[in-house]
Amino acid sequence: MAAHDHLIVAAIVVAAGSGSRLGADVPKAFVRVAGRSLLEHAVAGLRAHPRVTSCVVVAPADLVDLARELTGLNVVAGGATRQESVDAGLRLLGPDPELVLVHDAARPFAPVAVIDRVLAALTAGADAAIPALPVTDTIKQVDEVGHVLSTVDRGALVAVQTPQGFRRAALVAAHANAARLDATDDAALVEASGGQVQVVRGDERSFKITVPLDLALAEVVARG
Ligand code: C5P
Repeated sequence: MAAHDHLIVAAIVVAAGSGSRLGADVPKAFVRVAGRSLLEHAVAGLRAHPRVTSCVVVAPADLVDLARELTGLNVVAGGATRQESVDAGLRLLGPDPELVLVHDAARPFAPVAVIDRVLAALTAGADAAIPALPVTDTIKQVDEVGHVLSTVDRGALVAVQTPQGFRRAALVAAHANAARLDATDDAALVEASGGQVQVVRGDERSFKITVPLDLALAEVVARG
């Protein structure tokens, strides 16, 4: 057994976004794929990992009861930003877990092997470990009227996924230090606090449901 294999691992599933780009009549995490909400799929994926001993959910304020009913877990109301939602989840988890995974309910099929890689990087000493894949599209920087300013070298870019893993203390400190930074992921807060963020290999199945076409793909993936 490696030196840090005893550390307590907990997970926060953030599901409090509206998901307006999906155009569904319920918030994104409550949209159903293959008979189950995205939230239930995401929670099941995390709980399938033997080291994840507890899991909490952050839901829209008016859907806290439904989220509790669907998952059987402790649920807290989220905030206006993803960062506020993660903060609420951290408070609900309390001080016991040494390692925390933060996962988007909008990524219902993240494989267990990705969690292994994230935990291995934390065990090796990183403050944060994030799964990512190489960028396949060509990326251009543009101005506000759509004129191209430059073509970015995509060889140096990766597209980041969740679950992201953190030493709880580093994540709590990063959230406290960067309270006003509206980051789209938690690793950005750790970066802003000078913490060490390690990238590990992600997985195509960890894709995020954002637009209606993603739901069609999710149906295919869910049916195996
Ligand atoms: O908007 P986006 O798809 O990037 O959101 C990523 C995840 O963060 C989703 O699972 C969403 O429910 C969650 N979120 C949240 N609270 C917010 C905004 C987003 O829990 N205020």
